[in-house]
Amino acid sequence: MKILDLHYSPLSVPLLEPFVIATATVTHTRAALIKIEMEVRGERFIGIGEAAALHPVTAEDQPDILEEIKNAAPVIVGRTLVPEKLDEFFEELGLRPVTKAGLECAILDALARAEGIPLHRFLGSTGQPCRLVTDITLPIGEPRHLADLAEGYRPKGFEVFKIKVGKSLSQDSKVLEAVASRIPGARIRLDANEGYHAKDALALLKHAEKLSLVIECFEQPCHREDLVGMAEVTAQGGIPIVADESCRSMADLEQLALRKAAHGVNLKLVKLGGLKNSLRIGRRAKDLGLALMAGAMVETRLGLTAMAHLVTALGGVEWLDLDTAFLLASDPFHGGYEVNGAQLTLLNGPGLGVEA
Ligand SMILES: [Mg+2]
Repeated sequence: MKILDLHYSPLSVPLLEPFVIATATVTHTRAALIKIEMEVRGERFIGIGEAAALHPVTAEDQPDILEEIKNAAPVIVGRTLVPEKLDEFFEELGLRPVTKAGLECAILDALARAEGIPLHRFLGSTGQPCRLVTDITLPIGEPRHLADLAEGYRPKGFEVFKIKVGKSLSQDSKVLEAVASRIPGARIRLDANEGYHAKDALALLKHAEKLSLVIECFEQPCHREDLVGMAEVTAQGGIPIVADESCRSMADLEQLALRKAAHGVNLKLVKLGGLKNSLRIGRRAKDLGLALMAGAMVETRLGLTAMAHLVTALGGVEWLDLDTAFLLASDPFHGGYEVNGAQLTLLNGPGLGVEA
């Protein structure tokens, strides 16, 4: 099999409203669309992938990805690939995680299409696609506005809200109060994106206990390097703590487990350098007794579909956070999965099944 051609372009899709987290604000997706043309057994197949940056959650930003793929193109185009030696090929290219994830996704999409099987089967799943029910994210903002947003999502079928916190303990407390008073008993996942010290994270959880909310988990309360703080919240928080920014590689995963710095980890394709790495890290996390969340940067249906295939290949995860396509003003992609409220059902076509 041979790579015949490579195309790449900025993928900047506007959001319905600015996405504000403790460390970033974005108004458009900051990705590159990577399209690859491959020849497999004399036939031509196309694969696509989304290389999604969210700086500084990802070290790379959109211009870096475009520059990287442009520089690598002469080495990629015309190459003959051996499927068993894909890891060596990527090692030789030396791409950073976001670009690598997008390119790898495009190649695997084309290869699965060539085999006529869904990507999750190509990744080793044997069963049918599992049931995928996502939460929906409320970014950092005014308490009343967020309560309005949450209320608006409910008739659309969303039952679990991921609330972004970590910028201000008092403001975050008010947001939780507003959501609790509007939707008593709401199921909540918190994500501080590294914004707190352990003391404040524990204080927020203490405050949440008094409210009529079901807190399912708390993602990345402390800075990525602050495993002491992460371990403190894990030991004392009383709910599952999930490492996201702290888990960017297999070595990070081993450290988190060793230092009891989380109950679970958030898998994201662009953070972990693609589907195959994420699969390895997800399987190892399960072996270590850690729970899994499946997440994304601010991605379109293309990136989310790739993640849904990975979740299926892993046999499911505890917490699904594949909602960012719902936050976009439009989406240039269709297919991949069907949406019914918060439920995503993977389609059974070859590859990702996503079309531009
Ligand atoms: Mg997160």
